[in-house]
Amino acid sequence: EKIPTLAQLFKLAVIKAVEKPKFPIDSMLLDRISLFQGDITQLSVDSIVNAANKSLLGGGGVDGAIHAAAGKDLLDECRGLNGCETGESKVTKGYRLPSKHIIHTVGPIYSSRDIETKAAQLASCYRTSLELAAKSSLKHIAFPSISTGIYGYPIKDATHIALNEVRQFVATEPGSTLERVIFVVWSNKDRDVYQDLLPEYFPPS
Ligand code: ADP
Repeated sequence: EKIPTLAQLFKLAVIKAVEKPKFPIDSMLLDRISLFQGDITQLSVDSIVNAANKSLLGGGGVDGAIHAAAGKDLLDECRGLNGCETGESKVTKGYRLPSKHIIHTVGPIYSSRDIETKAAQLASCYRTSLELAAKSSLKHIAFPSISTGIYGYPIKDATHIALNEVRQFVATEPGSTLERVIFVVWSNKDRDVYQDLLPEYFPPS
């Protein structure tokens, strides 16, 4: 399948829906790769990704927001998962979220030492999440900007990794069930970084 053109990509690439709870995906007129600015817990899609920690038992940032919105049943399922290694991913149901599934992935804690390992681990978060979504026959996956909050990964470096992994997956797995990959940003700064870098990875045809 063809990678979307720049025109397609930016047709409705940035959607502000913070004020619209449980924003239904179909009304977003999304293309295969999209950028969404707002709260990931409000998306109504097949799967959202949680930037979790190794315990999978909840934390701050997007992890806290997802657990708060999904409810206690999520924590119960997570207790049975025995944690998760950095760079790996595990799937649960979405419980009270509008999204059906949650893919929990554990990003690296950034440090300027051993950047190559950190980069490989972050790339692995995206790759294993995409693989898990495809294996679970899911049609959509929405990613927050993994590791760039509390875990301190520089946003530009992390965005290059995210876009590269998704492009790679979309280009090499044309038969996968994934129809839509949505990058979810919270801040204006992160949105600007994604808007700048998206055309490098999903160029106009
Ligand atoms: P990490 O520990 O992996 O760094 P954080 O949750 O601290 O994860 O941050 C990851 C990104 O998620 C940050 O860009 C943060 O602004 C963003 N974020 C926090 N809450 C939400 C939310 N409800 N929806 C979408 N993104 C969020």
